[in-house]
Amino acid sequence: MLNQIKGLHHVTSLASSARANNAFFTDALGLRRVKKTVNFDAPDVYHLYYGDAAGSPGSVMTYFPFPNAARGKKGAGEVGTTSFSVPAGSLKAWADRLTQYGADKMSQDTRFGTNRLLFEGPDGDAFALVESNDDRKPWTGNGVGEEMAIRGFHSADMRLQDDGASAELLKFMGYEEVERDGDVTRFAVPGGNEANVIDIEAIPSAGAAGQGAGSVHHIAFAVENRARQLEVREALLDTGYQVTPVIDRDYFWAIYFRSPGGVLFEVATNEPGFDVDEDSAHLGEALRLPSQHAHLRERLERTLEPLEG
Ligand code: ZN
Repeated sequence: MLNQIKGLHHVTSLASSARANNAFFTDALGLRRVKKTVNFDAPDVYHLYYGDAAGSPGSVMTYFPFPNAARGKKGAGEVGTTSFSVPAGSLKAWADRLTQYGADKMSQDTRFGTNRLLFEGPDGDAFALVESNDDRKPWTGNGVGEEMAIRGFHSADMRLQDDGASAELLKFMGYEEVERDGDVTRFAVPGGNEANVIDIEAIPSAGAAGQGAGSVHHIAFAVENRARQLEVREALLDTGYQVTPVIDRDYFWAIYFRSPGGVLFEVATNEPGFDVDEDSAHLGEALRLPSQHAHLRERLERTLEPLEG
């Protein structure tokens, strides 16, 4: 069993309008945009990152907005709900705030004894705010005060036809099964970064999900550095997983592999972080391009949708 993985690093999803996506995450949810760059593999679209002040691993929700993308089809083999951690007692204030901002399909429930507020993002993305005791320091620079601000991820919820093989994989990655309730099994990684919970929801008779706007593209797990990442890569290869080479994403190093239930997994390093190419006081303000796409700047500044803030 591996011990290098410390929880989620980031979650990356697809969107349609970059402007609506940016407004929702910075205004309604009050996160900080910590990077405005492009998809390194498809530089004609943005890659937008939202998180806490520094974009700490475990706090970073990222998006590839494709302007005319059709919505994804919900189903098996994807991350259903992405959950953020908020202070106990703040859900009422969040429900009021999200109503004001026009969030869709709000409802409240309880999962494993904690209260959740479920809602959808601009592309039908499924989110929850989960009340928890969480010491992480929130970003409060966008008008959401400390008493309710998002602390980072709480968990991601994978919806799978066959949950067995993915459960085995999570255990191999260092997660432990902590609770089970009906079709939902909760896993947590000991000594993690607070974004250390994964739920697996078994939906054996559901049809396969179809990826589109509002779908999670992949979830990334955090490792401290490149040495730990190589250990994880070797172990996955030895177990028979097809893992990509290490890829330089400028703000972290990444490897990718497909989990047995269909969800794309990434393992990303905590180093070097989002202040590697701009001052931490101005993270996310200017368009940053990786060196391989720097020559596209003039065109991209003309064609990418302008964003507020
Ligand atoms: Zn990623």
